[in-house]
Amino acid sequence: MALNVVIAGGGFGGLYAARSLERHLPRHSARITLVTDRNFMLYTPLLPGAAAGSLEPRHVVVPLREELDWTDIRIATVTGADPAAKTVSMRMLDGGETELSYDQLVVALGSVSRVLPIPGLAEHGLGFKTLPDAVALRNRAILQLETAEEIDDPEARREYLTFVYVGAGYAGLEGIAELQDYVADLLDRYPRCRLDGTRWILVEATDRVMPEIPPALAEFATRELRSRGIEIHTNTRLEEVGERHATLSTGERVATRTVCWTAGVKPPKVVRELGLPLTEHGRISTDATLRVEGQECVWAIGDAAAVPDPAQRGGRPCPPTAQHALRQGRLVGENVAATLSGGRLRRFRYRTLGVFVDMGQHKAVATAVGVHLRGFPAWFAARTYHLAAMPGVARRLRLMVDWTVGLLFRRASAELGALGRPDSLATALDDPPGEPR
Ligand SMILES: Cc1cc2nc3c(=O)[nH]c(=O)nc-3n(C[C@H](O)[C@H](O)[C@H](O)COP(=O)(O)OP(=O)(O)OC[C@H]3O[C@@H](n4cnc5c(N)ncnc54)[C@H](O)[C@@H]3O)c2cc1C
Repeated sequence: MALNVVIAGGGFGGLYAARSLERHLPRHSARITLVTDRNFMLYTPLLPGAAAGSLEPRHVVVPLREELDWTDIRIATVTGADPAAKTVSMRMLDGGETELSYDQLVVALGSVSRVLPIPGLAEHGLGFKTLPDAVALRNRAILQLETAEEIDDPEARREYLTFVYVGAGYAGLEGIAELQDYVADLLDRYPRCRLDGTRWILVEATDRVMPEIPPALAEFATRELRSRGIEIHTNTRLEEVGERHATLSTGERVATRTVCWTAGVKPPKVVRELGLPLTEHGRISTDATLRVEGQECVWAIGDAAAVPDPAQRGGRPCPPTAQHALRQGRLVGENVAATLSGGRLRRFRYRTLGVFVDMGQHKAVATAVGVHLRGFPAWFAARTYHLAAMPGVARRLRLMVDWTVGLLFRRASAELGALGRPDSLATALDDPPGEPR
């Protein structure tokens, strides 16, 4: 009888785990099922490009069915698991609940924004974690310009032209740099806004930006962003957010209508419903072979897992990066196959080879295999890396076309927030139902 291997989550970890299992398991001896709540993997390193209009949103995703040959893909939401009964429960697209049995389970459920209980943040802040977040940010920026352009009072206009990002990791730094670059590109078409200019503020609670990269590169990134007029407030926290303002721990009350929260991630709630051991930060505890502590048949990878970091001699979990998740995906496929065939398990040994931080305007900072790059060479190296890392020739070509067009022409300024949410046909009726004749 075929063995059931179930993967929960189809992001970096899940997709690469499924590909590795397809390669290492004999096709007729196993059934691989990937349960995930959307039918594509989001290539997050390119999300800031999608938010800044330099990449078409469809070009930063990898449809799972195009990349997997014989994995059974089920688009459903995982709601829990019972390791004793070896089942995963899930809610399907039609709303029905069902259970799936497994012989081996790989958990790759990723992470969500770590939203802190700051007054007003959940109501007024924007996230930057998903494709809808990126598209919403781009549309918000355009709408703010359109609104500001028709307001007479310069004081009121400023609220619309001030953008605050909170958290200076990858997402925050690249996010603010690319969006500012985009808005600067559009500003010529908005004469009143151009007169006032825009204000950009990056707030970080610790004493420096980008703890993931060497201090010298982080300083370069800081200088570069400051030279473009982006204010960087380190050792500063967001205290409160309202519809028209944000208050910082320095006491400054910033008049703004856009606060983007990029201050870290945490595992999604469902991870607590899986009956697995968790660390104090809520990630699933695994050993160096990616097997969950105390479990024979359950493995965990990616942002949701606390895999001992080889770079820290196992003293701390691996950082939540795509580089780690995809390599853990590859290894877990090998280790599950080895378990089923009685082979030896391998340990996770990957140490970060390089980091790229894209800052728009054809500038980036990068450190790769000990070499530090900055400015245009880093930007070029980052593009080359992502082209090589993006699965599929057609997808690489689409990225190249987007980037080449971006080098030659300015970006589009159409606000397409209503895309995919058409008005009901009822709005076109001469006598809509329920309205008096
Ligand atoms: C803006 C941004 C920029 C980044 N840039 C970089 C970078 O340049 N380099 C880098 O290395 N890392 C970067 N990262 C981090 C990187 O995206 C993550 O570390 C990586 O995606 C983790 O992979 P994963 O498989 O654990 O999770 P994900 O890739 O998030 O995949 C998890 C999957 O599980 C699905 N899922 C979640 N809950 C359920 C459920 N209940 N049921 C079914 N499916 C579910 C999700 O929809 C998702 O498809 C960036 C992140 C962001 C937000």
